[in-house]
Amino acid sequence: MEEFLNPTMQPFLDSTTPFEEAHYVIIGAPFDGTSSYRRGSRFAPSAIRRASLYMETLSLRTGLDLDDVEIADVGDVKGLESVEEAVYAVEAVVRRVLGAGKVPIVIGGEHTVTLGALRALKPDAVVDFDAHFDLRDSLLGLRLSHATFMRRALEEFDTKLVVLGCRALSREEMEFASDEDDLTFVTSAELLKNGVERGAEAVLEELGDVSSVYLSIDMDVLDPAYAPAVGNPSPEGISVTMLLDILAEVVDGRFLGFDVTEVAPHYDSGLTATHAAYIILETIYALESARRG
Ligand code: MN
Ligand code: MN
Repeated sequence: MEEFLNPTMQPFLDSTTPFEEAHYVIIGAPFDGTSSYRRGSRFAPSAIRRASLYMETLSLRTGLDLDDVEIADVGDVKGLESVEEAVYAVEAVVRRVLGAGKVPIVIGGEHTVTLGALRALKPDAVVDFDAHFDLRDSLLGLRLSHATFMRRALEEFDTKLVVLGCRALSREEMEFASDEDDLTFVTSAELLKNGVERGAEAVLEELGDVSSVYLSIDMDVLDPAYAPAVGNPSPEGISVTMLLDILAEVVDGRFLGFDVTEVAPHYDSGLTATHAAYIILETIYALESARRG
């Protein structure tokens, strides 16, 4: 696995847990080569790690604290000359983490890196928090980019997709999504109007008969008030609280891993990276709570 990684000087939450002893494994994926608007998500893994150092770690949602979870940070994937290489490197590392019986947690980078995790895990279902569908057939001449990768994923394997918080969509994607039997979505407007239960119900209904799930969090699902520093900000998003409350209702032992992508940290003074670090830790605690039953 080392041939695909550069170690980090500043691990998430200052963790010194070795890979062998960890259950949760942080993998940075600092790639932003296809970003269509504001680049800079290649700086997100280090910005999110830095923000994590100043967080309190006792979770009031779950009652868990940092010494209840073993987290290793294996550093950043390397070989990021092209989008194909970046996706391949993520796939290779995630495959090894899963093979060792551990939970991979990918910090993007742009959302395209998720495709690498999906290729390694081949989950029965994907729960995707995103303002966008990322279901275009191509964008700016690219068949593989952060705006198309989910379309490629659906072409490559049989997976259910539940998108929550979507609101910045093209007509093409809306028509594609409406025709696709395995795709369900709950818009941001529906969540804001009907609350956490509406989102949780939609997810639980879709996950009824699946045995493995992957969670992907594109930080632009949040309202720009909470996450201004993302590649493609979109108004009228959900809150951090709503995101975490939905996760608390749906996360269970079938979740293989998750990612947090699209933070472009130079567009604010640290708020978005702080929220990303907090969301990562709370999601780890949600997984640990589910594991303990
Ligand atoms: Mn996305
Ligand atoms: Mn997005």
